[in-house]
Amino acid sequence: MPSIKENLRHVTALLPQGVRLVAVSKFHPVEELSAAYEAGQRLFGENRAQELVAKAPLLPKDIRWHFIGHLQKNKVRAIMPHVTVIESVDSVELLRLIEKEAARIDRIVDVLLQLHVAQEETKSGFSIEEVLEAGEAGQLTENLPHVHVCGVMAMASLTDDMEQVAQEFDLVRRTYITLKDGCFDESEYFNELSMGMSDDWRVAVKYGATLVRIGTAIFGPRKY
Ligand SMILES: *Cc1c(COP(=O)(O)O)cnc(C)c1O
Repeated sequence: MPSIKENLRHVTALLPQGVRLVAVSKFHPVEELSAAYEAGQRLFGENRAQELVAKAPLLPKDIRWHFIGHLQKNKVRAIMPHVTVIESVDSVELLRLIEKEAARIDRIVDVLLQLHVAQEETKSGFSIEEVLEAGEAGQLTENLPHVHVCGVMAMASLTDDMEQVAQEFDLVRRTYITLKDGCFDESEYFNELSMGMSDDWRVAVKYGATLVRIGTAIFGPRKY
């Protein structure tokens, strides 16, 4: 089996300039994250608050943690000191709470707006309609001095049908552009398109991903 280091080399060598890798380390022990760190990886993604809070203090301080899972309101305070980017903001209410908690510890936090484009109902995120409405109402830009809204994140449907996946990534890209031109035209931060996982990142890159979130192809299968 190839090592974590070899997997990282393989993936990063294939990423075009300007596309960054978030190594999704959920369910993997800190030893495996350390191996990735020693190979030069600095962006890591976790999807459970408790796991992020447990792992972060055990690893080097220059790791930048991306939170990529559904974030419960009562967990925002716990992750706030550790996280660099919250990629999974799926409601205006959550965005406001993040603002409040960031202000509380006097920091600014980067966030992405998660869009729901997949067929599975279980996945979270703003619907396209909802996010555009919130944007028009000023709810994504006003009164958020401790939050930088840096772009959008999405997951495609879990399917082998790469045509379907491509259509979904294209919808994410078009929505990103609509938001950027419509309500973030004065923002210097709104530049990120986080999409693509182990099985579909090549498609995501074709549709303009700037961040890909890859777990299995780096760390191997997760042991739940
Ligand atoms: C787990 C997860 C990933 C990585 O999935 P892999 O298929 O293991 O690459 C990416 N994004 C999110 C939001 C995830 O929860």
